[in-house]
Amino acid sequence: MAISTARGLLALSLIMAQPVLAETPETPTMPAKPLSTMAAKANKAPGPHLLEPKLVMARIQGEGLAVALTFDACMGATDARILDMLIANEIPATIFVTARWLKRNPEPFSRMLAHPDLFEIENHGENHVPAVDRPVKIYGIAAAGSPEAVAREVEAGAEAIVKATGKRPTWFRGATAKYTRTSIQQIQAMGFEIAGYSVNGDGGSLLGASVTAKHFASARDGDVIIAHINQPSHAAGDGVVKGVLSLKARGYRFLKLSERRETLTAKGL
Ligand SMILES: [Zn+2]
Repeated sequence: MAISTARGLLALSLIMAQPVLAETPETPTMPAKPLSTMAAKANKAPGPHLLEPKLVMARIQGEGLAVALTFDACMGATDARILDMLIANEIPATIFVTARWLKRNPEPFSRMLAHPDLFEIENHGENHVPAVDRPVKIYGIAAAGSPEAVAREVEAGAEAIVKATGKRPTWFRGATAKYTRTSIQQIQAMGFEIAGYSVNGDGGSLLGASVTAKHFASARDGDVIIAHINQPSHAAGDGVVKGVLSLKARGYRFLKLSERRETLTAKGL
């Protein structure tokens, strides 16, 4: 069954979650302990079917090359290398923040708010709990586990943004960017569009600088790139800076998610 196509303005399609991802979109915790033989036999039943939505922008002829930069602020701190580069070069981006990150990063967040033309603030949940309505672990992170817990993760994340910005977010990206079909439907019914992506820029901020820069360089017109802005000590941040500046040098424009939505509306698509 096809899910909402973001009011027909953005092409949103679901792709199967890969059973093993070489690069994870989120920072994984330690791998689960090896199961004993008996436990492994008892756990043969498949877990819930997880979906990882893909999001790309429609290409518009005559408007030049464009990508959307999306950065997750999961928890922890702020990568000033990335934030400074975006501000200095006047590069717009969509920032997905958790309530948890907001509490601990008032100063970097105020810098973002000081540039409303550059930064669109969207919902990454309350506590960085995967918005999955079944009790599973994803990359070692325990999911919300029930529809009630998904609702809290999504709504409390939105309320924290309303409190901080006065504006209710319209996009949601859950921790790990994976969902069940039912959790996607639930989140959409709450009024959010699911923010997938099409290029994994920094592999959960775990990649080296040069590999990260190459991932950014692989972006094509219409791609939505995901990376992280909350890991100042990781080498990946240097690659993000290089990668974004390289795209800029090649003539790419950078669009916020809502910006392209409006553009497409104006074109009646
Ligand atoms: Zn995250």
